Amino acid sequence: MEDLYNRKITYARLSVTDLCNFRCIYCMGESGVVKKPHSEMLSLEDYLLVIDALADLGVTKIRLTGGEPLLKRGLLTLAEHIGKSPRVKDFGITTNGVLLPTFAVSLKDAGVKTVNISLDSLNTNTFEKITRGGKLTDVLKGLEAAKAAGFDEIKINCVIMRNVNDSEIKDYARFAKENGVTVRFIEMMPFASQCVKQVGLFISAEEILTALDNPPHLKSDGVAEIYDADGAHIGLITSVSHKFCDRCNKVRISADGMLLPCLLQSGETDLKPFISDGPALRAAIEAAVKTKPRAQRLDENILQNRDMNRIGG
Ligand code: SAM
Ligand code: SF4
Repeated sequence: MEDLYNRKITYARLSVTDLCNFRCIYCMGESGVVKKPHSEMLSLEDYLLVIDALADLGVTKIRLTGGEPLLKRGLLTLAEHIGKSPRVKDFGITTNGVLLPTFAVSLKDAGVKTVNISLDSLNTNTFEKITRGGKLTDVLKGLEAAKAAGFDEIKINCVIMRNVNDSEIKDYARFAKENGVTVRFIEMMPFASQCVKQVGLFISAEEILTALDNPPHLKSDGVAEIYDADGAHIGLITSVSHKFCDRCNKVRISADGMLLPCLLQSGETDLKPFISDGPALRAAIEAAVKTKPRAQRLDENILQNRDMNRIGG
């Protein structure tokens, strides 16, 4: 499957729910998520059909996300379906980690290979402030459960924000080394509904590198550039300060069945009317891929209208 700019689309991120047990300040508004009627959301059976259609069209990498994916009823059925698909070679999940003590082993058994855990502060109070009430210890227990389950790789995602958690950059390098994980700093992305509140919080990857005393570059890993900070693997995802749109191979499917061709620009195709007709669903996905914009246009202040929790990160 190719878009209009000859980019091969091989990676799909599936949001399995909009709901979350945190309300991170950069991801959703203070009042949390308005629950939509079931009829407007994909059912478990719908997800299975979408996954098969994506695999038929050449998608080899799938990541489950949300909202908080581990809140999704029937998640393990979904995970087992993806895990059994011979065409999906790379299967991961992005989670806030709180429910990993319950689910890590079953997810590993279902075929999940990589787990990305979001962890925005190593300080109890700061963590609670960023997540609006989350408990750091819950996530650390989740990380331990993931380590014990033996996934191929565990990555920690962290959004660094000015005067919120930027004093912790070096602590994360120590944390990465101690726990044998890669820590990836994600530049905070602006979304239309929240950009006013986010003013002043943005920190560029360059500033993060300076705070780490400019470690040497190790390798590229997808959209992340990995650096070696005294033995710690630190990734930087520069979605805002540098465009890597020319190598974007992704589409996103939202929990309400929309295919979003770009994270940072509005535009979506409703797949629900085509779900139960395989050829029509594949045609709708291919047509939606052709609407993928060439590049993000943040510098022109063109923003995504959906909040991150309704896209899937
Ligand atoms: N609840 C799960 C979690 O937190 O990992 C999965 C969904 S969350 C939307 C996926 C990722 O998006 C998280 O790593 C989160 O830090 C990131 N994210 C959310 N809003 C963001 C923003 N405005 N800028 C950058 N990253 C963001
Ligand atoms: Fe929930 Fe993840 Fe968004 Fe935080 S980043 S509010 S954990 S969906």
